[in-house]
This record gives sequence, C-alpha cells and structure tokens, in this order.
Amino acid sequence: MTATKKDFKVIYDMFSAPIAKKLDCGRICAPLNDGIPVCCSTENAIPIVEDEEWKLLKSRTDLWSLFKPFDKDSKKIVKELPKSTCAVECKGVAFCERENRSLACRSFPFFPYFTKEGELIGLAYYWTFEDRCWVISNVQVADKKFVKEMIEAYEYLFDHDEEQYEAYYEESATMRRVFSKRNEPIQIVGRDMQYLLVLPKSGGRVVPTKKSAFLPTKPFTSDKAYRKAIKEAGGDPAGHHLPK
Ligand code: SF4
Ligand code: SF4
Repeated sequence: MTATKKDFKVIYDMFSAPIAKKLDCGRICAPLNDGIPVCCSTENAIPIVEDEEWKLLKSRTDLWSLFKPFDKDSKKIVKELPKSTCAVECKGVAFCERENRSLACRSFPFFPYFTKEGELIGLAYYWTFEDRCWVISNVQVADKKFVKEMIEAYEYLFDHDEEQYEAYYEESATMRRVFSKRNEPIQIVGRDMQYLLVLPKSGGRVVPTKKSAFLPTKPFTSDKAYRKAIKEAGGDPAGHHLPK
C-alpha cells in the first residue's frame, strides 16, 4: 500500500504550520549560502517527492519542475532514487507559494524519529545540515502547533504507506549509529513537546532533559563563529548577528 495523490492532499491540509511563529530562519542561514536559504537551494538540498505527491503538485501549481542534475553528485543522487520518487525543484525562494510547498519543505530540517522498538517519539533532524541550518542548533524553537501537525501528518502517511514508515525507521537507526560514533546525544523534540536525548552507545536509550540542555553546533555557537563562517562562505558578515 502506498500513499495516493489524494492522501498527499489530506497531508498538505493537515500540515501547514511554520516551524516557529515570528521567525524567518532563512534570514539567518542565507548569508552562509550566497543569500539563499540553505533548504531552498538545490545546491544544498534537492527536494525528493513521491510520484503521487508530484502528481498533486503539478495539478495545483506551476511552481515546480523536475530537477535537472547539474554535476556528478546531483546525477548520482537522481540515479539512485527509489523508483516511486522523483527529484524536483521550485522556481526559487522569491516565488515560494506556502500552500504549494512539498512535504519535504514543510518538514525540513526535521524528520519523524522512531525508537528501536518502532515508537514514533518526536522529531529529529537531518544532521548533515547542522553546519548550515540554524534551526538544527535551536530545535527548541519548534512551535507546539508545528510539532503536532507534523506528527499527525506523518502518522497519516505511515498508516497509508508502509515503505515510508520503513524509510524513517531506517533513517532513525542510521542517526543513532552516527551519533554513537560521535559519542554525542541526539536531541529530540518530543511529540508532546518534551525535550529528550537519545544517549549514544546505549542501544537507543531515551532520557528526558531540559530545553537548556540542547546545545548549538558551530557556526551557531557565537556571533564570532557565525560571522567567521559567513566570511569563509564568501559573504559579508557586517551587520549579521545570531538571534538573542
Ligand atoms: S530550516 Fe534551516 S536551512 Fe531552512 S531556512 Fe531555516 S535555518 Fe535555513
Ligand atoms: S517551495 Fe518554498 S520552501 Fe520549498 S524549496 Fe521552494 S522556496 Fe523553499
């Protein structure tokens, strides 16, 4: 059983909340990426959609088109995609239509985290973006409405698509392996807004923690580190500060 175009419409209707109220996080990461929010540039993140989601997007808007690989890496990504998916790209951030964002856009940088036992306990993040995505260093900004809608939308998806459940179960297991190697805990925003840590080298043990225990990673640890990274990325750090 796989999710249909109609199912994706239900999911879009269920899940539209922004990560945080009154916060445009794209303004914080864009200076590190030639002025474009990191998750809105295919040089960094290529949106992948299920074929059925692609049918829905095409029926609603001309914002999206099939992604054209531009180098060796992007060709490899497209070549290795599962059969039922395709890579897409939008016209760019200046043309964004909130109601026609893909599920990947709505969720980024989060994904639903499953324990070893298969319980969906909350939201983890695509850790490979931690050096560019400010939200990953500040997962506690995730708003209650966002968390609730995202969990409900993905539960609906998993109820209609076994392969999606398997993909996120596997992604969670991979994250545990990576963070165990790094000897660092995974920070989870719990489904009921608890703050949780998955301890490394513990077989995936989950313990409650405090918001203040969630620590940023470089370059979002200080204004100095942030401005240095902007400079290294070829940008002008003048006037750029991390939110207080
Ligand atoms: S979610 Fe992360 S990468 Fe995307 S705009 Fe916000 S800070 Fe940038
Ligand atoms: S649709 Fe909007 S949120 Fe999604 S990649 Fe394009 S500009 Fe970014």
